[in-house]
Amino acid sequence: MPRQGNWRFCIQCRSLFFNGFPENKGTCPASPGGFGGPHKAQGFNFKLDHDTQLFLIPAQDNWRNCHMCQALFFDGHPGKGFCPAIGHPSDGHRGNAIDPQTFNFVLPHGIGSSRNIQEGWRNCHKCQVLFYNGDGGSGACTGSMPGGHIGNAADPQTFNFCLAFPVVPRLNARVQGGHLMASGVEFTPDHPVEMEYWYRSNHTGDRTVFRTVQADQEGRFEDTVPDFQTLGTGGYFAHVWATDFTEVRIDHQISGQL
Ligand SMILES: [Zn+2]
Ligand SMILES: [Zn+2]
Ligand SMILES: [Zn+2]
Repeated sequence: MPRQGNWRFCIQCRSLFFNGFPENKGTCPASPGGFGGPHKAQGFNFKLDHDTQLFLIPAQDNWRNCHMCQALFFDGHPGKGFCPAIGHPSDGHRGNAIDPQTFNFVLPHGIGSSRNIQEGWRNCHKCQVLFYNGDGGSGACTGSMPGGHIGNAADPQTFNFCLAFPVVPRLNARVQGGHLMASGVEFTPDHPVEMEYWYRSNHTGDRTVFRTVQADQEGRFEDTVPDFQTLGTGGYFAHVWATDFTEVRIDHQISGQL
């Protein structure tokens, strides 16, 4: 099933935006530097299905990435809402009409939340973006400045969209300069990762070390075991486990000579 990651909550305007371009974080109606600065990612790394059909759960398609502001917006109405990246307030987001190759995202709704699914996402019927309304916050809306997005409060019938954030962590470990180091990618962003190290060497026998590290905004971390260097020279064997916030546990083994 085709699926795209790097969809993130913007802490400033509360919309869902595409964070996958290193140099282009779109256009946010609520950036601290003033209207029109970049979006700012926080929280889960959502993965959205596109150009497919979800047979077993209720879902709505016609959601598109606006290539001007990078927000996800509903492209199924003749009106395209209000885009913060386009000067004239009557101009809407740019999706399929401008670029027929753009993905057609399919969003599940009404299936509740679970370990890897967050509900409470709504279509703003004013500016047409998808925004997080699960805690009652409404963010900033280009279509109703200086007010927030308008979703469930104005229309209780609006779909309660549920976004998946499957975590596919990858763990690596290495010995460098006498230090045992671990690094991870694709962990849950902005969340703790529980680390467990077990290692054995000719000099000290077995040791177990528990540590907690924090995955960064992109879901990456680097960690170094402080006392591994004291093992000195000789052979070693190390087993490293990392447990994500979502309770996904993965492991990695290495061995070699110091
Ligand atoms: Zn924003
Ligand atoms: Zn836009
Ligand atoms: Zn809005």
